[in-house]
Amino acid sequence: HRKHAWTDRFKPAITMDGHRVEVVGNISRVVEAEDALKSGAEGVGLVRTEFLFLDRDEPPTEDEQYESYKAMVESLDGLPMVLRTIDIGGDKPVDYLGLNQRDLSFLGLRGIRIGLARPDLVTTQLRAVYRAASHGPIKLLFPMIATSNDFRRIRHLAETVRQEVGGPRLDLGVMIEVPSAAIMAADLARVADFFSVGTDDLTQYALAVDRTHPLLAKRADALHPVVLRLIDQATRAAHEAGKWIGVCGGVAADPKGAQILTGLGVDELSMPPSVVPGIKEKIRNSHFEELQELARRALEQEDATAVRLLPL
Ligand code: PEP
Ligand code: MG
Repeated sequence: HRKHAWTDRFKPAITMDGHRVEVVGNISRVVEAEDALKSGAEGVGLVRTEFLFLDRDEPPTEDEQYESYKAMVESLDGLPMVLRTIDIGGDKPVDYLGLNQRDLSFLGLRGIRIGLARPDLVTTQLRAVYRAASHGPIKLLFPMIATSNDFRRIRHLAETVRQEVGGPRLDLGVMIEVPSAAIMAADLARVADFFSVGTDDLTQYALAVDRTHPLLAKRADALHPVVLRLIDQATRAAHEAGKWIGVCGGVAADPKGAQILTGLGVDELSMPPSVVPGIKEKIRNSHFEELQELARRALEQEDATAVRLLPL
């Protein structure tokens, strides 16, 4: 069966009754862009740029970042690439920023909050991105947005940088990974160009379980109906505003998860390149109407275990 998935990996993920979902890759390094292309991914749905900032003594320069982003988007040969601004904090600490334990906690200066507190860092990154954007189709994604105001502030910064650098206008997206963003998705959908759901953080914040805690982490199952209801709400809000929504958290790489998310109407699934062929195959062997029914039932279950036991 695996062999079949590999042979057919460049075929689109279209259900037997004709519903298409985009299947794209998550990457964090230049070489992984090539892995994504070879795996049959239809683009990159998440570049975790913070990996350029880890394991070193100072942040990468604008030119260094520009070279990396340019190399990534060029290896994708015209396929779209969603680049997320640095998501430092939580499980990804960086010593040279002079941040303390509280700053770095999951409720601290994570993601865009560092960007807004230290505009020098994110301004340098945005300059590199707008320069790289003349070499291929890049979209920008912002992590840990909790309110429309967070998004307006970062959009203003991005627009200022774009005017300085003179790059093309880019689609600006919001990570839906804080429950407030999912609940207020209708407001965010008016100002953002697209959404991408970070199910790992959304699960940890919705259920109040630290995703890295050795005893608790297994309770943080993104197929919990509370998470699915938040995704459902964000999906409806996106579509009502004529915007698209993807999922780039771990559950998109889980066969059952991919089926339920497709049934909820999510437009794009982003996952490690190695699992792209198998997930595409799973979607191709499904009926959209059955996935919609599966998703409807999943929303009504009591917990993640019950969702996982649902027959298709
Ligand atoms: C997520 O939170 O699900 C996500 C995709 O982002 P990260 O894993 O990088 O926090
Ligand atoms: Mg996250």
